[in-house]
Amino acid sequence: MPRFRQILDTMTAYKPGKAVVAPDGRSYKLSSNESPYDPLPSVVEAIAEGARQIHRYPDPGSVKLTEAIAARFGVPADHIALGAGSVTVAQQLLETVGEPGVEVVYAWRSFEAYPLLADLAGVKSVMVPLAGEDHDLDAMAEAINDRTRLVFVCNPNNPTGTAIRRGALEAFLDRVPEHVLVVLDEAYREYVRDEDVPDGLTLYRDRPNVCVLRTFSKAYGLAGLRVGYMIGQEPVASAVRKTIVPFAVNHLAQVAAIASLQAEDELLERVERVVKERTRVRESLIAQGWTVPPTEANFVWLRLGERTLDFAAACASEGVAVRPFAGEGARVSIGDPEANDAFLAAAKAFPR
Ligand code: PMP
Repeated sequence: MPRFRQILDTMTAYKPGKAVVAPDGRSYKLSSNESPYDPLPSVVEAIAEGARQIHRYPDPGSVKLTEAIAARFGVPADHIALGAGSVTVAQQLLETVGEPGVEVVYAWRSFEAYPLLADLAGVKSVMVPLAGEDHDLDAMAEAINDRTRLVFVCNPNNPTGTAIRRGALEAFLDRVPEHVLVVLDEAYREYVRDEDVPDGLTLYRDRPNVCVLRTFSKAYGLAGLRVGYMIGQEPVASAVRKTIVPFAVNHLAQVAAIASLQAEDELLERVERVVKERTRVRESLIAQGWTVPPTEANFVWLRLGERTLDFAAACASEGVAVRPFAGEGARVSIGDPEANDAFLAAAKAFPR
């Protein structure tokens, strides 16, 4: 038997959201916060054109995509580091700080990959319970010590959908010592409509220890291609660039991401439709008697406690896949109106 790392004994592999099929054949996947829309024709064309180059290695520095992101957000190109999905960039960020004895602080429950990535990086997770459905930023600040090197702040938070407002976030950042890197994970930024929720890009400029994590997987609809990035000051971005596995961002992902930025108006119009559906779904659930925290992301959160798995099973029998967190609650992505109606019907039939 090969001798594996000890940490693997206690680790479980990431469990992705799965599709389910109802007995009548209906299937609505609301378990992975994906875009419900088909890829844009212009993006598919760019991928088809890019396919002519796949016998060559991709540009290892993703130079054109980096420049396109820089132009889009008005940031210097050397503030950007790309990776194969933002989950991989999060892993790279941990690689920049991880060594034995190091601690990483984040809220719990939050994005499921954080504990997995921390274990892989050989750092200790310090998980700070949410206060209700929100980040407990006071407790997080108190959890930081000399061993802490990184803090994840997921804003809006996956899976609760709640978002931290400017005053609270700035006060927190002011309390974080300079040796600690704060990663503002903004995977769902494009869905935020509360104007008081700050864009992390307005926060990192005068804070050398703050960076922003973004993805093409959600609003830009490229989950299957794996491309994400971070924006931070030059020393942070260049440290992250050193940790990339060579050629991690493939050529088709690079060209599709560039084409998506070029078609951003169309994509953001789709986001607007999802946001409208989010309002409809949440208000319908509340009218049905559910308690639904306000959400700034493309999903809603139902705290179901011990009934979580029963709820997921009830949804599955209607062909609706949700993401259950056993004993806690279910996260349900906002899909197209038909999928949302199927979910609302399942929720209505479930005893409150
Ligand atoms: N951060 C958060 C908060 C997420 O919810 C996700 C996806 N579920 C990611 C990062 C990773 O997304 P990707 O790797 O597809 O960019």
